[in-house]
Amino acid sequence: MPKLSEKFKNLFKSSVWIYPLIIIVAIPTLLIVNTFWNLRSFNRDVNFFIRHEAVSTLDSLKPFILDKIDKPEELNTILTDVVRNNSDFISATILETLDGKRNPVAYSNLEEANLAANLGLNQLATGFNQPFAGLTYDPNLRKNVWQVTVPFGKDKDNSHLFVVKLKTDTVDEVLNRTSRDSIIILIVLVIVILILLANHFLFYKRAIKAQELAEIDKLKDEFISIASHELRTPVTALVGYLELLKGKIPPNLIPTLQVELDTLDMLTKDLGNLINELLDVSRIEQGRLQVKPEETDINEVAKKVIDSLMPQASGKGLKLIFTPNEIPKIMTDPDRVRQVLVNLIGNSVKYTLKGEVKVAIGIKDKFVEINISDTGIGIPPEELPKLFGKFHRVQDKQTQEVRGTGLGLWITKQIVELLGGKIYAQSIYGSGSTFTLTLPLNQNNKV
Ligand code: ADP
Repeated sequence: MPKLSEKFKNLFKSSVWIYPLIIIVAIPTLLIVNTFWNLRSFNRDVNFFIRHEAVSTLDSLKPFILDKIDKPEELNTILTDVVRNNSDFISATILETLDGKRNPVAYSNLEEANLAANLGLNQLATGFNQPFAGLTYDPNLRKNVWQVTVPFGKDKDNSHLFVVKLKTDTVDEVLNRTSRDSIIILIVLVIVILILLANHFLFYKRAIKAQELAEIDKLKDEFISIASHELRTPVTALVGYLELLKGKIPPNLIPTLQVELDTLDMLTKDLGNLINELLDVSRIEQGRLQVKPEETDINEVAKKVIDSLMPQASGKGLKLIFTPNEIPKIMTDPDRVRQVLVNLIGNSVKYTLKGEVKVAIGIKDKFVEINISDTGIGIPPEELPKLFGKFHRVQDKQTQEVRGTGLGLWITKQIVELLGGKIYAQSIYGSGSTFTLTLPLNQNNKV
């Protein structure tokens, strides 16, 4: 197991940081750039429209202004009306340029007119002979205002300037709304990114854990494989010595030792079975389980298994009924089929307290179908999906009494699938179970 410090080192050096960093930097940056870009073009558009507003106001007033250019009193009234009727206007002034100096000729407000006369934009407007607009801070109003200055004159001499001061309230409102919306979107985005990042690290941690578990699982498989190989020799010797010992016991002592001898027999048999099952598990997991296909008479294999289990069934008072069927020989491994049937029929006998165990063989589609049904304790419905799992045993009072490892059905399923067949179970808890296995009829099928 890697040390904690090593784990952290791995976490920091790996590319796991690149992806979240790109996200956390790139997305908000793009959003900010996009917002500023939009605000900039919005400002440009506003500038254009403000100038346009001032120019069109001047265009509509020009004939009157030029007509009354020598009557400042009347012009003042016109300009005052313009400001009063247009809620965006703060002031309007007409300046006359004389010897490079600009003097107010008419105005809606005298104070504003004096300020307008000194506006820097006037120089640009006269110099370039086109309208200019600019945003300035008005200390009296304590807010930003737009100043627009439009050159005009009687005989295209541009001797005059029309200067208007406009409120920015509508524009400000739009700008504020846009900035507020952008900030909200930015905050939501950052939260979403943080959630995504948390998720990302959680997955990463899980991936590391899964990798570690896979390694542990591999170690465990190797251990089982080595341990079962090492155990096989002493257990075989144990069985041999037990037989030798039995031979040396004086016949008159045998009845008094019978219970102990039977228990020893049972325990060594259990140990032998466990080791064989563990060896099968490691062979299957390492892909070393070999199948040797040959022409096989399934009826014959089943009959032999039934005969071998008959004493066990009769001992429990169970009927073991076999229904053979006319089926052709198939290419399969008879030893593996025998192992599978011993397991399934053996289980039925083990988990049936009274009644019968029936074995029936038939053909369905392109498969030989073998049904093993019993009137046993049955399997709870919630256990059925886990039944073929490794080391899985149903935990209830009735099965506690029965000896077993929970490996038989897992091994059986692996072998059946290796032989190209399928296996499944149906059961009514308390009434009995039926295990169905199929094997391919066709020689070309996988074996
Ligand atoms: P074992 O019999 O060694 O415990 P198996 O893998 O053969 O292991 O079986 C797994 C579990 O399935 C058993 O512990 C038992 O609870 C249940 N089981 C298998 N066959 C039957 C059956 N015919 N009737 C009822 N329960 C069964």
